[in-house]
Amino acid sequence: MKAANRLPVEGYEDDNLVGGARLGPGTVPPAIPAWVYYQASAPRTSVPTMIQLLRNVNIFAPEPLGVNDLLVAGEQIVWLGARLPDLPDALGVETLDFEGRRGIPGLIDGHVHVTGGGGESGPGSRVPPLSVDDLTGGGITTVVGLLGTDDTTRDTASLLATTRGLVSDGVSAYCLTGGYHLPPVTLTGDVRGDIVHIDRIIGVGEVAISDHRSSQPSLRELLRVAADTHVAGMMAGKAGILHLHLGDGPRGLDMVQEALAKSELPARVFNPTHVNRKRALFEQAIGLAHAGCTIDLTAFPVTDGQDAWSAADGLVRYLDSEAPPEHVTVSSDGGGCLPEFDDHGRVVRMDIGRPHALVGTLKVLLHSGQPLERILPAFTSNVARILRLPHKGRLGTGQDADLVVLDEHDNISDVMARGRWYVRGSRPVAAEVFERSGD
Ligand code: ZN
Repeated sequence: MKAANRLPVEGYEDDNLVGGARLGPGTVPPAIPAWVYYQASAPRTSVPTMIQLLRNVNIFAPEPLGVNDLLVAGEQIVWLGARLPDLPDALGVETLDFEGRRGIPGLIDGHVHVTGGGGESGPGSRVPPLSVDDLTGGGITTVVGLLGTDDTTRDTASLLATTRGLVSDGVSAYCLTGGYHLPPVTLTGDVRGDIVHIDRIIGVGEVAISDHRSSQPSLRELLRVAADTHVAGMMAGKAGILHLHLGDGPRGLDMVQEALAKSELPARVFNPTHVNRKRALFEQAIGLAHAGCTIDLTAFPVTDGQDAWSAADGLVRYLDSEAPPEHVTVSSDGGGCLPEFDDHGRVVRMDIGRPHALVGTLKVLLHSGQPLERILPAFTSNVARILRLPHKGRLGTGQDADLVVLDEHDNISDVMARGRWYVRGSRPVAAEVFERSGD
């Protein structure tokens, strides 16, 4: 099946920027292999060209704006307001009526193992890569890919190629360089080079601390990589965050507290995730949010009596605290493995993180009576802020056309990413590139 607006038009990425300059043979630093340049300038398979008028959408921008019309041209929202008059037929506008259903910004998932993660229980435990439908089916229109435990058989090059594949499939995708271990695996030889020179790489992670799978980094090592990330982020106008995997270890976030006390680095550089995996860790994370860090909750399954908070419970606890509401996000850990270890570090149980966990968490929160506008920033605008993606995470004129429509049961009925429909009437509509080429 084809989406009506998926016209095959030759086009090129509009943001092939290397260190602020458009990529071209003269601007590729010699340290970057030639294939990186080739990947960056590969033509996109199709671009949306139609003008679409979406009528009667009850907009949560995330703040509630009431029932509005949205005009989408190509990949952007070019107008949002109460009632747009009918447009001339010559423009070929496609009009859709959403009859007052709720429209929210496309979800931004800041922690996804797009290449598939896992690997800590032997080669058989490697998780397969995710498809674009795994993301859009869960309302995710922007994703940040990363490497975890296995930064040995998986590398930054394959992560970058997978990320670019998702971009050509029509979603917005970025990635982090490095993985669990220090010194970090990189493409150009250091994290500054990766962030400054390579368009899609916006930060470093997930670097593991307080975990037996980490490289047991010293404070000095952590500060060094954080400083490089911060400086490169400033140079390239990118997120420049050090995304930190927190393990079960009793040291928790002690090293991050020490890093803030003993350096000039701004707190925003340190971006800890999985902070809801232990209740004491969560309390420590709230303290860091007060200090300026943005903390990330993981939407993993939590059983009754477990010393953890589900992402839904964690978010409500966070918002009920005095901590700044803009300093919390939720991610899925999609494609990652969720192992349980015994006291000897042996895997006793294994599950796989799924991107659908994000919208699942949103639904649990709505069913528990939380107002949509209260919880939505943690899935949209807060994530866009920490990732420094100003055109993402909000619905409004000039923003990217990333939209999720919810039905009356809080399920996803429609998903648009960069102006293209991926879900319509609760069914996937966009064909994979390989299916398209076969028809
Ligand atoms: Zn992790």
